[in-house]
Amino acid sequence: MTQKSWLKGNLHTHTTNSDGDESPEHVAEWYHEHGYDWLCLSDHNHLTILEGSAAEKAKWPLLVRGEEVTSRDAGGPVHVNGYGITELVEASDSTDIVTAMRENVERIIDAGGMAAINHPNFRWAFDHGAMMQVEGYKFMEVFNGHPETHSTGGGGRASTEGIWDRLLSNGRRVWGIAVDDAHHYTGEFGHDRSNPGRGWVQVKSASLTQQDVLDAMEQGDFYATTGVTIGDMVSNTREINIEIDPETHADGTQAKYTTLFTGSNGRLLYETISNTAAYKPTRLDGYVRATVYSSRGTKAWTQPVFVSE
Ligand SMILES: [Zn+2]
Ligand SMILES: [Zn+2]
Repeated sequence: MTQKSWLKGNLHTHTTNSDGDESPEHVAEWYHEHGYDWLCLSDHNHLTILEGSAAEKAKWPLLVRGEEVTSRDAGGPVHVNGYGITELVEASDSTDIVTAMRENVERIIDAGGMAAINHPNFRWAFDHGAMMQVEGYKFMEVFNGHPETHSTGGGGRASTEGIWDRLLSNGRRVWGIAVDDAHHYTGEFGHDRSNPGRGWVQVKSASLTQQDVLDAMEQGDFYATTGVTIGDMVSNTREINIEIDPETHADGTQAKYTTLFTGSNGRLLYETISNTAAYKPTRLDGYVRATVYSSRGTKAWTQPVFVSE
């Protein structure tokens, strides 16, 4: 059997082919220099494909083809990322949110790709109510690094995690991803700017090719994170076992971690402060997923296992 390792990637970023402030080449180099194995350049309604010499390609991560299929006339932004598409996907011009979402997902699938519903809380456009009316997407953004995407919710609006739990509790098999949605590579980096390096996924892929990375993503063989690192992980209907790689400061101080295992309707099943977080799912749980909280303010989300049948 092939030895699999975690491969770090960002699924959502912009370049000067849409509203990003740097060229595709510069953006690819930024991610390579910051330790990413692969990257999706997901410009609005533009399929960015980088061609280069072997010397240039050596300065880029593996590039996974994608596009942020962007509908702007639906009464709220309906942005759906397509991964592994073989051609440009034209965005729906429907004035209805559900119709626009449905058409964007269908067109991505028709173009050979997999669809992710992006940032539901951007301009408070929609929540699980609209998402439950659309079939066929594989992913949703549980974290988006853009400062206007309101991942944590509030004021009566569900967090993106809460939206995810509602989908899962209603029987949807959707994987949660963390992404940068980066636009700003020049000038100052700050919390009110859309900078790279905030959210990513670690994929257990057989090799570093687009096919293997996307196959592992489709299977849910990955976790999403804003900084927490997981070493070994076993995740199936019999056991979930997460080995957290603790972050260590220069003076030897280690970050501390709390892991929550949650099930149907977001119910807390088990909480642990061990860096080896383990739980055995029961049939009553419906699904089980883990969220790891670091004392540094970062988080990681494992993918749900489904135990209801
Ligand atoms: Zn967007
Ligand atoms: Zn975007």
